[in-house]
Amino acid sequence: MSTKLRKCQRLAFSLLEVIAVIVILGIVTALVIANSHQCAASAKAAVCHTNIGDIELQAELWLQQTGSWPADSLSDVGADLNYFPSGLPTCPVDGSAYELDGAGNVVGHAH
Ligand SMILES: [Zn+2]
Repeated sequence: MSTKLRKCQRLAFSLLEVIAVIVILGIVTALVIANSHQCAASAKAAVCHTNIGDIELQAELWLQQTGSWPADSLSDVGADLNYFPSGLPTCPVDGSAYELDGAGNVVGHAH
């Protein structure tokens, strides 16, 4: 009887083993969550840079076709569906609107 009981005790996990597994799973989960937040932030910054490139390209096209840079607030070129068929984009990082510096360059958005 005592050998059977000892055999059963060997098959079970000790409380320390269960606690160690829970702690390790908690650490792994925290690392995965932190990493996914970092990936999402860098993806949004990449979309912002793509938007800036698109806006500066469309501003250059506006200059070629009208002879002057678009308004700094992009109110003219942003409303023209030939330049922005889906509407003027906003920054995915902070939700702010894009603005030009008067020479076709988007200002701000250093993220
Ligand atoms: Zn931005």
